[in-house]
Amino acid sequence: MILGFFLPWILQAVVLLLHVALPGRWVDGYARGADGRPLRYRLNGLLVLAVTVGLAAAAVALDLVDADLLWQHRWASLVGACVLGLLFTAWIVLPAPPVKRSLLADLYLGRPENPQWRGGRVDAKMWLYLGGAALLELNVLSFAAHRQIEFGQLGAVTILYGALFTWFVVDYLTFEEVHLYTYDLFAERVGFKLGWGCLVFYPYFYVVGLWSQAGDPAPGAHTWLLVLAGIVFFTGWTLSRGANLQKHAFKRDPQAKAFGLLAPQTVSDGERTLLCGGFWGLSRHVNYLGEILMAVGLTLALGQPGDLLPWLYPLYYVALLVPRERDDDRRCAAKYGPLWDAYRARVARRIVPWIY
Ligand code: NDP
Repeated sequence: MILGFFLPWILQAVVLLLHVALPGRWVDGYARGADGRPLRYRLNGLLVLAVTVGLAAAAVALDLVDADLLWQHRWASLVGACVLGLLFTAWIVLPAPPVKRSLLADLYLGRPENPQWRGGRVDAKMWLYLGGAALLELNVLSFAAHRQIEFGQLGAVTILYGALFTWFVVDYLTFEEVHLYTYDLFAERVGFKLGWGCLVFYPYFYVVGLWSQAGDPAPGAHTWLLVLAGIVFFTGWTLSRGANLQKHAFKRDPQAKAFGLLAPQTVSDGERTLLCGGFWGLSRHVNYLGEILMAVGLTLALGQPGDLLPWLYPLYYVALLVPRERDDDRRCAAKYGPLWDAYRARVARRIVPWIY
């Protein structure tokens, strides 16, 4: 019980130590500091993930821990992560100057914008996302290992689900730099939503599908269902990753051809420019559709589409991203004025091309 409670604390400490100690590359971000200059970030997420998983594998190989340790202690470790998330929230929010009138709103939405320590070597947001991703991957592997240990076989569904989730995590860390150009980094503050979200919700809830099913033998699933799961997942990944990469390249060099091929199609007011071609011509947030499709693909990969609990994961994305698109739309309308209206006229749909 005690070990389980402190497992997420230990793992987050290991990730933080590795993040600081391992080599990283410095890059300019999109968010700006108080002096108006782009914030600098030191990134090494993929290496940290590889070493974390390697250390865990070595501990299993040396018989120091069971491969399904996180599964065995899943409830205690969830409680430990919740407490860690709450303590982190209080620690990061309370000493900072108030932003809203209500303390509750400040605790939830956060106060500091982009806290960094050790001369920028550690950025709170990037560490939180890295810690969340590493623990998510360990949970996926441990929950899958439980099926192998308990029932003597993984089954095609567990292998596919594990492989797709690993792709999801590795993809995020491969393109960590692109993430510097996203809403959370330039428009959100650090508090419960981001802190508790990354320390608890991200590593535990995202894996809700396997959490609810790994205690049972893997079901047999029709090949067509698994193929469909892969197609839906990678269609989503293409939309999401493609749109994010296209915007990242455009923000860095508005003249550059997208993916070295497409001349940028844009709307401009002479001063500012917005993309309206390629992925950004399909809908104003086709990347959100991509994220939702990836979650649907992962849920189908579990092989039991009639089991409702795993559908909470894609449903969560709908609940997160539909209001977020509205918020972002308001923010952009205020920032870009008539140019945003021109863009909305060119690209009429919010998230789903031709439909919504
Ligand atoms: P976007 O990457 O779409 O960023 C929105 C910002 O991009 C706008 O505020 C605006 O910023 C700029 N922008 C909008 N339209 C255009 C345009 N046509 N041309 C140029 N710039 C434009 O959204 P998010 O940051 O919310 O999401 C980023 C990714 O992260 C998405 O793929 C999303 O699905 C994913 N995500 C994943 C989550 C997860 O848990 N896995 C959770 C949440 C998001 P500016 O003012 O700078 O121009």
